[in-house]
Amino acid sequence: ATMPPLLSAMANAGRHGVLVKSAVTMEGLGQVDAVALDKTGTLTEGTPRLTTVLPLNASKLSEQELLRLAAAAEHPSEHPLARAVVEAARARDLTIPVALDFDSAPGTGVTASVDGARVAVGSPARLLDGEDNPAAELTVGLEEDGHTAVLVTLDGTPVGVLGVADRLRNEAASSTAALCELTGTSPVLLTGDNARAAERLAAEVGITDVRAGLLPQEKVSAVKELERAGRKVLVVGDGVNDAPALAAAHTGIAMGRAGSDLALETADAVVVRDELATIHTVVRLSRRARRLVV
Ligand code: ADP
Ligand code: MG
Repeated sequence: ATMPPLLSAMANAGRHGVLVKSAVTMEGLGQVDAVALDKTGTLTEGTPRLTTVLPLNASKLSEQELLRLAAAAEHPSEHPLARAVVEAARARDLTIPVALDFDSAPGTGVTASVDGARVAVGSPARLLDGEDNPAAELTVGLEEDGHTAVLVTLDGTPVGVLGVADRLRNEAASSTAALCELTGTSPVLLTGDNARAAERLAAEVGITDVRAGLLPQEKVSAVKELERAGRKVLVVGDGVNDAPALAAAHTGIAMGRAGSDLALETADAVVVRDELATIHTVVRLSRRARRLVV
């Protein structure tokens, strides 16, 4: 027998490196008319590197001590920022102490007890919660360069700043343009990262609609707002923080290589071959199959 069009499209999507989990998803992909992209790991490669280690003077910590504390707290986390911090500590041959009572808040950061003190590593805005950032100038400078500035606190007191940077995917601009052409609207960028870094990267790929500093539930709200306006939204993300938006969207696609288990399980489809360009390919495959079905 010849394969039904949707099944054959699923096999085809597989050959292009996208695992579409159901025929319903394969069919739904062709209906999307708005795209929301996550930044870290989706528009960027998802393997950020540590660029800056700066202890605050008052902390009396050395660079090595600051990095060692941060790496200990980040060690249990699967977040790409955490991996960057841990790898940098390893590259400097630091011994990473064992952290106890680890806790993480998606979109915010991590906390853990290290050497008897409570260490937090995360978003300056969220950790400081309205208080003045003692490293404001450095934070702004890093962010304007497109880096993510991460604050480290010790028992609630800021002790240093780490800078982390990720590269845009080679195909980020061309894929954005292709999705724009396919849906008739420019993709929206949804990110938990800071607005300065997000806008800098968005400008490089031609995205103008940037929603930054979002918690996971705020990503959901942004998607629902688009859907209330009559859009069928395709969300592309990779993190634990993207899972609720992937679930809420008309169709959710997870980037597989650096993707968290939760994102891969929640999404309707998974990009196994780590290329953003596969997204518009599967939308096209779906549209072609739908024409044959109807
Ligand atoms: P994105 O939407 O760009 O993938 P996330 O929601 O995962 O970003 O993270 C948003 C922000 O929360 C980060 O830019 C960082 O400031 C902070 N954050 C989240 N997890 C961590 C972590 N493990 N270590 C440090 N900072 C973190
Ligand atoms: Mg991400």
